Amino acid sequence: MKCIFCDIINRDLPAEVLYEDEQVISFLDIRPMNYGHALIVPKMHVENFLSLPEDQMGRVFIIAQKIACALRDALGFDGFNITINNGKAAGQTVFHLPIHIIPRYSHDTFQYKIDFKKYRNNELEEIGNSIRKCI
Ligand code: 5GP
Ligand code: ZN
Repeated sequence: MKCIFCDIINRDLPAEVLYEDEQVISFLDIRPMNYGHALIVPKMHVENFLSLPEDQMGRVFIIAQKIACALRDALGFDGFNITINNGKAAGQTVFHLPIHIIPRYSHDTFQYKIDFKKYRNNELEEIGNSIRKCI
């Protein structure tokens, strides 16, 4: 199966690589939401957050923190978002898990248009109960 990120990991495709070790690679997103938008990707081909093995979870997030620190020091952003899109409905476009680190500035032009919901009656507790049963 063709995978852009496996091609980057194998150096069959070029990328602006920021960091790599045995398990993780980080490179700049080719279509940044702000300059310096970075991706942290496990070298193992896993589709999304749910398929990342537990023993890789820690390493991937340690590197995500390392990259976020480097972006802060290099770019002096005002804040940043860590995003993982899981599934088409959530905006995932490459089906090899990337963690996005997106630099943010007080006056950048991002807008999240969210139709916030309101829990009614017992909905909050019912939804809590149904989720707790699955943990
Ligand atoms: P997703 O949409 O799956 O959460 O994230 C995939 C990201 O990969 C997107 O933000 C997209 O811009 C980036 N991307 C897609 N193709 C390439 C590529 O060939 N090189 C790099 N560096 N980034 C890519
Ligand atoms: Zn892959």
